Parts: sequence; C-alpha cells; structure tokens
Amino acid sequence: MQRILEPGQIEALASRSVPRLRLPDRSRVFAARAERLGALSRGHALQGYLELLATLAAAQHAALQSLEVTLPNESRRAAARHHGMPVIPALGEARSSAWRGVLDALRTAVAAGNYPPAVAAACERLATRSAEALDAQADRLLAVEVAVGDAAAAPLIMAALQVYWVAMAARLVADDVGVPESSGVCPVCGTLPVASIVRTGAPYAGYRYLHCALCATEWHRVRIECTQCSATTGVAYHSIEGGSAAIRAESCDSCHGYRKIFYQEHDPAVDAVADDVASIALDLLLTEAGFHRASGNPLLWQSPG
Ligand SMILES: [Zn+2]
Ligand SMILES: [Zn+2]
Repeated sequence: MQRILEPGQIEALASRSVPRLRLPDRSRVFAARAERLGALSRGHALQGYLELLATLAAAQHAALQSLEVTLPNESRRAAARHHGMPVIPALGEARSSAWRGVLDALRTAVAAGNYPPAVAAACERLATRSAEALDAQADRLLAVEVAVGDAAAAPLIMAALQVYWVAMAARLVADDVGVPESSGVCPVCGTLPVASIVRTGAPYAGYRYLHCALCATEWHRVRIECTQCSATTGVAYHSIEGGSAAIRAESCDSCHGYRKIFYQEHDPAVDAVADDVASIALDLLLTEAGFHRASGNPLLWQSPG
C-alpha cells in the first residue's frame, strides 16, 4: 500500500536530520564581525560608518570575554522549554545591571576613535544619563517602539544588549531551548531575525538559518518560504546587478515584506549583521519596488519618517 505523506509530515521527517539551532560562539561572534566590517569598509560608500561599526564590534568582543552573566534557574528554564517560550526573553527579567557596564566599555572605545563630532556627542550624552533613563531606552528599543528617545545613541545601546544576550545564549545547549509556535522569532530570546544565511560546512551545509538580531542564535527555516508570513508562493529573489552573488533579498508578494538572504558558498566570511548594513543599496532597490523591510538592523537605527 502506498503511503502518502502530507506536506507537514514530509517537513517533520526532513527536519529530524537538520540541526535546528546554531547557538553563538562567544569567542567568535563579534571578533568575526569586526574583521568582516573592516574588510567591507574598504572603498565602500559607507566606509566611515562601517569603520565605526568595526570598532564597536571589536569592543563588543573585548567586553564579552570578561562578562559574567547568570542564566534563569533550572525550573524557569524547564518551564520555558516546556511551553515553547523564549528561555531568555528580550522583554522580561533576564537583564541585570551588568549590561550598563558593557555600554560604558563600548562608549569609551568608540569615543577614543577618530569619528565625527556627532558620534563623540552621543557617547558623552550616554555618559551623563541615569541608570533609569538608560534602562528605559533599552526597554523601548527591545520592544521595537517607534519613539526610542536618543536615536544617535540607539546603536550603542543595542550593541551593549547584544553582548549581554550573546553571553547568556552562548551558555545554553540546544536541549535548553523549546520549539516556539512561530518560527518567525528567535526561540532563545523572542527577537526578530535580522536576515538569513544559507550555511556551508557539516552539519549545516545547504540549510538556511535565520540570525537573531539580539542574541546571535540561528534557527533553521526551510528555504523558498517567506520568513515573515510563511507564504511559499510569490517568493522572489533580488540582487544588485554586478554585486556579490552571496547577497540577495527574498521578497514576498503576499505580505510585501522582504529580508536579505546570504549564501556562505559564495562568500565564507558573510555575516548577517555586517553584510546587511553594507548592502543598503539592496534596501533602496526593494523599497523602490514597493516592499518593506520585515525587521530592522540593530546597528543601523532608522528614525521613523
Ligand atoms: Zn535571540
Ligand atoms: Zn510574506
């Protein structure tokens, strides 16, 4: 007797052999990003900004190496796992005051660089703000509110929060992490992905992973499916003529959203956050074509309007 599998069952069978998570490596996440930003900056139209971000990523790496964090206790982790909830939610009680120490270190590193006066001014403002004000702005940024306060300081605050969440996520093992109802948000912290990457190298080769903008966890998502609304028809790919084969935008005719997708086979050093900023020309192309970005980049704060 022939056994016919429904599409969902086929996917479930296939997914057994696919590693569903790639948890971040604290020794590499920001160091690799700093190198990548430095390489991308040379001769780039956004050279100054990419150099600034390279300095920031190097400072993130340094801060992460000495940061001690405490994970939620085992019973809370078990409850989150059981309910498919984020184990270290971006919005919740996971954050301790240690993130502000990271912010101080990042601000100091950036202020020491040779950057435009507006950058130094943003660093100075951060130095004078109260702990309560900084926590309030962090809450608004993590909640992706429209009114975020000091927009120039936002990338620095997000960078500090990234260090804090990567420190926590790097201590997890895959069995700590439940399977959320939606594959559109990070299973570890509940944040939206910045982009996706089709990986090379066993055991991830050929699989597409969404990259969390906050904790750098990557989670598997089947290819040729809208990462915002899950539509499987009307998905199209766009690239800049004459640009890198490693960078495309995946658009959707159902929700009119898009996210970028990077292909490691064409460029092994591709980094979801760095290459997303450096490929802003592709955003302009997609915007002109009537698509909206499905989610932002934590290091490229765009003021509404
Ligand atoms: Zn995350
Ligand atoms: Zn869609």
